[in-house]
Amino acid sequence: MRRIQYRLLAIIISIGLIGIITPIIYTNSLALDQAQEGIIDKLRSHANAILVYSGSSQKDTFQGLATEYSDASSLRVTLIAADGSVIGESSLPNNQLSQMDNHIDRSEILAAQEFGEGFSTRYSTTLKTEFLYFAKKVDQNYHGFKYVRLAQSLKSVKNPASTYREFYYLIIGFMILVIIIAWFLLKNWLTDPIQELTQAADDISKGDLSRRIIINTGGVEIDNLATNMNQMAMTLDQDFRRIKRMEKVRSEFLGNVTHELKTPISSISGYIETLLEGAIKDENVNIDFLKRALENVKRLEELVTDLVEISRIETGELKMNYDYFNIYTLLNDIHKDAKQRNSNKNIKIQLEVPDKKLFLYGDEGRLEQVIDNLVSNSMRYTDQGHIRIKVIRRDNELVFSIIDTGIGISRKSINRIFERFYRADKARDRRKGGTGLGLAISKHIIEAHGSNIYVDSLEGKGSTFSFGITTICP
Ligand code: ADP
Repeated sequence: MRRIQYRLLAIIISIGLIGIITPIIYTNSLALDQAQEGIIDKLRSHANAILVYSGSSQKDTFQGLATEYSDASSLRVTLIAADGSVIGESSLPNNQLSQMDNHIDRSEILAAQEFGEGFSTRYSTTLKTEFLYFAKKVDQNYHGFKYVRLAQSLKSVKNPASTYREFYYLIIGFMILVIIIAWFLLKNWLTDPIQELTQAADDISKGDLSRRIIINTGGVEIDNLATNMNQMAMTLDQDFRRIKRMEKVRSEFLGNVTHELKTPISSISGYIETLLEGAIKDENVNIDFLKRALENVKRLEELVTDLVEISRIETGELKMNYDYFNIYTLLNDIHKDAKQRNSNKNIKIQLEVPDKKLFLYGDEGRLEQVIDNLVSNSMRYTDQGHIRIKVIRRDNELVFSIIDTGIGISRKSINRIFERFYRADKARDRRKGGTGLGLAISKHIIEAHGSNIYVDSLEGKGSTFSFGITTICP
């Protein structure tokens, strides 16, 4: 992370340096151009002045004229004949004039020859400085020379930075300010948030699913990334919690199953052992013990059936077979069967239906299982009064209610009775038979029909279990 910061700093400084150097170079060349133009204009005026001056000069040699004008103007003056020979040169004494090269191939002279005037900048080996030369072609017959050339050293204009120094300082100061501001902004907008994101990703990958990123850079991309990462952590967290909860439910279920299986198995082995130890010969108990052992075998069978059933329902293995059918006969059979099973003279079992045409859309076998379970429960938990199997029509549904005047369910238990193996009163309810899975299975079946099962109960008064099933065949 530190490395990114340093890279950014390097980029900012580079940009800053470019920002500083570019205007310096630009202003330098601009200054130079401006200065050159000024000098050319000046030299041009001086060239014209020499021509006027040459007419009135007392000097009889061109060398004298060049020197005199040079003294007055502090410019280098060169007078050149048509063939290129130098006939007057202010920077040399008269006796050295003959040593000078022929100037016909100097670029300013060539230009003057062709266009009337010309200029060039060049390093003068004679005077060891850079010069700006300006040459003008004139009438040789009138003036006695063909070219007048004026030159000025560029030494003074070569360093325009001095002219612009204050300006440079201003630019440099400004750029440093820009660098500092850019650095802080980038740090706040980019490197710090990225650092936080990396740290958070690291924490999350190490298992800290409660880790959240709190950044607000105002930059859509980074803020979005943070929101997405928070979302991801939240989803992972939820999934993780769900898996943990499921694990807990699973192990609880396994514990319950073991317990439920163990109870009848130990009863059976108890009875058999007692019988083997001699009770088999005791006519008073042997049949009774065998009956009890058989009861427990049946209970075990019931439990295994329900366990297979619930695990098949919960894994989605068990498919419903929906059909459009009349449930009346089935209700009638359940009612008759219940009355037959009922040995308690204090309970009346009634069937209440609006008519005999009770068509609905559902799985006949499964609905029979649910109603059977609810009626069996009512019989199990009711000592006196009545049990009603009631059907009414409501909108596009048949609403089934199994109503009893039994022991009822406490407020504490009512929300839990649909859980697997939940029993309101563990000891008593187990004694009364049943696997503790009946309501859990019934709930699954009704939900598979796209409906819900409800319970309404008052302790000591009775309970009502109800659910609706559609009458519409899709
Ligand atoms: P069980 O096989 O034990 O009856 P269920 O899942 O069918 O298992 O019912 C769960 C628990 O709900 C029962 O143990 C009992 O405590 C309570 N319960 C169910 N139906 C009734 C009812 N009609 N009246 C009172 N309590 C009931």
